[in-house]
Amino acid sequence: MKLLSFFVGIFYIMPSYAIAQVKVPVLCYHNISLEDEGPDNLMHIKGKSFDKQMKCLYDSGYHTILPDQLYNYYKNGTSLPSKPVVITFDDSHDTHFTVAAPILKKYGFKGIFFVMTVPIGKKGYMTAAQIKMLADMGHVIGCHTWDHPHLKGTSGLDVEKEIRHPKQALEKITGQPVQYFAYPFGEWNETVIGQLKVSGFKAAFRLTGKNSEENGIFTIERIMVDGSWVCPGLPSEMKRAFK
Ligand SMILES: [Zn+2]
Repeated sequence: MKLLSFFVGIFYIMPSYAIAQVKVPVLCYHNISLEDEGPDNLMHIKGKSFDKQMKCLYDSGYHTILPDQLYNYYKNGTSLPSKPVVITFDDSHDTHFTVAAPILKKYGFKGIFFVMTVPIGKKGYMTAAQIKMLADMGHVIGCHTWDHPHLKGTSGLDVEKEIRHPKQALEKITGQPVQYFAYPFGEWNETVIGQLKVSGFKAAFRLTGKNSEENGIFTIERIMVDGSWVCPGLPSEMKRAFK
């Protein structure tokens, strides 16, 4: 019993999400194209290659988890399914709905779609109806600002325009709370974290770089997936990138 409370204590004392427990890999995708179009690299993946990567994760026994599960795991030590993975999509491209979502469905996977609100309904980007449908399918819609600013030098950051209003707009579209945020370009600082907290966000996702010492849950690391990664090496490539 003493031992148990010692470990429970660690979960609550540790300020950084990554120290107390094993980190869950969080994958980040950007451009996804139709079946066989375009290159396979860090910023782009063919629909066909994305399907192969999802099949590889499925066949390797991975289970996708949603951000509430990740949050509760890091904050409270709640259990997760075996081989958990989080799959995220940035920048609200229309192919996230038309190409990625049907592939996720095929393998019983769920993802987080980080939407910037300025291009909603514009050519190449998701419509409000598509965003709503993703939420209705059980995926999570996250906030990726209004127009993707650099948040590093934030003295002139318009919090209302880039954080609060996009959150409210996405909540109106989905009818669900929007509690997770992805930093454009992965750039974050403590000022922005403070604004996210007072705006009602529970956690935020970055790309590579360092963690916040005090607010680790607001700097959850993600891996930019290389579209050229294939089975059987994909899981080990993933782990290597996420050390
Ligand atoms: Zn982005």
